[in-house]
Amino acid sequence: MTVTNVIIVGGGPAGIGVASLLKQADISYLVLEKNKIGQSFLNWPTTMEMITPSFPSNAFGQIDLNSICIETSPAFSFNKEHLSGKEYSEYLHMVTDYFNLNIQTNTEVKTVHNHKGIWMVETNEGQYFARYLIWAAGEYQNPIIKDIKGAKHCTHSSLIKNPSKLRGENFVVVGGYESGVQLTYDLIKSNKKVTLINPNPIDDKYTSDPSKVLSPYTFNKYSEIKNSPNYTEVLGELESVTKNQTTYQLQLKDNSIIESTRAPICATGFSLVKGPIDEYISYREDGSPQLVEQTDEFYGQENIYLAGPSVRHDNHIFCFIYKFRQRFGVIVSDIMRKENYIDQEIDMLVNKWKENGMYLSDLSCCDTECVC
Ligand SMILES: Cc1cc2nc3c(=O)[nH]c(=O)nc-3n(C[C@H](O)[C@H](O)[C@H](O)COP(=O)(O)OP(=O)(O)OC[C@H]3O[C@@H](n4cnc5c(N)ncnc54)[C@H](O)[C@@H]3O)c2cc1C
Repeated sequence: MTVTNVIIVGGGPAGIGVASLLKQADISYLVLEKNKIGQSFLNWPTTMEMITPSFPSNAFGQIDLNSICIETSPAFSFNKEHLSGKEYSEYLHMVTDYFNLNIQTNTEVKTVHNHKGIWMVETNEGQYFARYLIWAAGEYQNPIIKDIKGAKHCTHSSLIKNPSKLRGENFVVVGGYESGVQLTYDLIKSNKKVTLINPNPIDDKYTSDPSKVLSPYTFNKYSEIKNSPNYTEVLGELESVTKNQTTYQLQLKDNSIIESTRAPICATGFSLVKGPIDEYISYREDGSPQLVEQTDEFYGQENIYLAGPSVRHDNHIFCFIYKFRQRFGVIVSDIMRKENYIDQEIDMLVNKWKENGMYLSDLSCCDTECVC
């Protein structure tokens, strides 16, 4: 039986980013990826681009917002601010090749068990064993349509790969955050009529945190379409969908009804891919996994960590790369400590990671709102 130090599940930005720090710390690891490197980005709609802009600002201590590894910048690689999904997955490939990271593709983790402190990971390629497990399986491959009766009549927005190729004139989109507004924009630009249903006004900027309100990039797109005669915005929450012979009846919580000849498209988000590790997760009131703030271990467990956009601490949401990458160093330094690295060695790496946006332990700074 071969036991590696660390198994990372998922070859997206979170998995590859943590792998690069483990390599710097000289801790053996293996990334298991069920499809290809950056598969979620390969699955993105063709029109979707990164909303966080890239810029090669690394040399001045402001690492590119979309870098997952120090000394790299998607902006530099592609000479572009907003990469497509395909381009971003190519960036992940470049990082993997350049730093010679240990990633095994086409290996899907099916079950995970802990036996006497060893993680046993069952895959389609056989069993793997490790002392530490880092779960980085992302969210994109688990689209959700929650709390809507008749959800089976709805289509999730992530299933629409090319909006301009959709047949029909009139569309209803449910959800006015990033994916919903992007899809609405694409449809309106293809001369379709769209009714967008959202609980709050799309341009309600009650905070400067882009995890809660529309990013400037998507807001600009919204500004372009909001006065279009083809665009209707409805304030409300979809409660149920029923299908008659030729039409769909959409009932909102205020009992108003919208009729549509097409199934509504729900841009209602994603949640953690967690099947194989569900038994190790306890949940916060908001349904997110509960984590230990000092280490990002799943609460009540040892040596099993979460990396990626589902990380939450208090009211801090780490859903963007520039946010969740700051926890990579927190995980790796915890493993170094458990592996009895001397303090100077840990401090040296932690300082380097801090300077490069890969380590954030004091979360009090994340409360700051922009004043103008
Ligand atoms: C539509 C959309 C747009 C976004 N735009 C941005 C943006 O512009 N900027 C930004 O910073 N963030 C953005 N995000 C946030 C996004 O969550 C992250 O950028 C990123 O995809 C998360 O990285 P990850 O590595 O955690 O997950 P993923 O990229 O989803 O990677 C997880 C990997 O795990 C693999 N996997 C899953 N299950 C298993 C298994 N059982 N066994 C083995 N492998 C498995 C998957 O195949 C996948 O490759 C966006 C999210 C969405 C949904």
